[in-house]
Amino acid sequence: MDSEKCDSNSSCPTCNQVGTCSEEEKEAHDLKRLEATMSLVKHKFMVLSGKGGVGKSSVAVNLAVTLAKEGFAVGVMDADIHGPNIPKMMGVEEKRLVGNQDGLLPIRTESGVIVMSIAFLLRNKDDAIIWRGPLKHSLIKQFVGEVFWGSLDYLIIDLPPGTGDEALSTAHLIKKVDGAIIVTTPQEVALLDSRKSITFCRELKIPLIGVVENMGGFVCPHCNKEINLFKIGGGERAAQEMKVPFLGRIPIDPEMVVSSDDGVPFVSKHWDSKVAESFRQISGKWRQLMEKEMDKKELYLEKFKIKTR
Ligand code: ADP
Repeated sequence: MDSEKCDSNSSCPTCNQVGTCSEEEKEAHDLKRLEATMSLVKHKFMVLSGKGGVGKSSVAVNLAVTLAKEGFAVGVMDADIHGPNIPKMMGVEEKRLVGNQDGLLPIRTESGVIVMSIAFLLRNKDDAIIWRGPLKHSLIKQFVGEVFWGSLDYLIIDLPPGTGDEALSTAHLIKKVDGAIIVTTPQEVALLDSRKSITFCRELKIPLIGVVENMGGFVCPHCNKEINLFKIGGGERAAQEMKVPFLGRIPIDPEMVVSSDDGVPFVSKHWDSKVAESFRQISGKWRQLMEKEMDKKELYLEKFKIKTR
């Protein structure tokens, strides 16, 4: 677009002026703003699952809090438009959004993790979102470009199960998603579906950081020992078959359900538990792999002399 013309007209809502910009100019301004916002976030990555109920949001929340406890600046973007659970899980369900000249401000949770979700915009928490793809795309565009995330080490994007509109829009809008984590349970059906998420990432050239197996094994609430209640290891086998790193296994702990219902992330309350230990291990392995991916990206950009800013 002709940015000179647009600036001299001083006319687009995106540049906070009186509006006479053309649609193309607005689009170009939006894009510029989105790139500027995302350039302040070091690592942007998606959490995906093939099926609902496998603990994808729980993994996103607890990984975010683990990283925050380890000293990183972390944001969670709840891109699950039809089932936005992150605010409830993080105890900020009742909060409402405010904005300033920088954009909409994410909600800060007790752990220091900042959150954005459509749940903050709903009048009634039981309201259903009945939207087609284009509306979802424009909401995600706002979440990525018009929310003032500030400088972050990690932006974790919690997507709905499957490989639908939200995942596609997020990948297209961010352009360079730094990586994806696939959450699965050990059961065969969930595994089959998670293979589709792996294929999705490969098609969109999103680096697969790894697979997390959730609910493999059970932590006895009485003796704190792990029992293999259901079969375990399916996630690891699927990861091997699909040639994706395996990040680790999170056991079943009934306290996880209580914590998420109470709006207190499990690891905030039970930092010494087996589950929290699993999250720390996964976070460590994941950060290592993520750094490797970033090095590859830097080498690639250097090789082809591509400037990111
Ligand atoms: P998804 O995002 O995949 O739909 P959720 O994260 O909402 O799944 O989890 C579904 C339910 O399972 C929630 O009640 C959550 O507390 C519970 N849950 C998740 N992981 C575990 C676990 N490791 N142990 C016990 N309950 C879990």
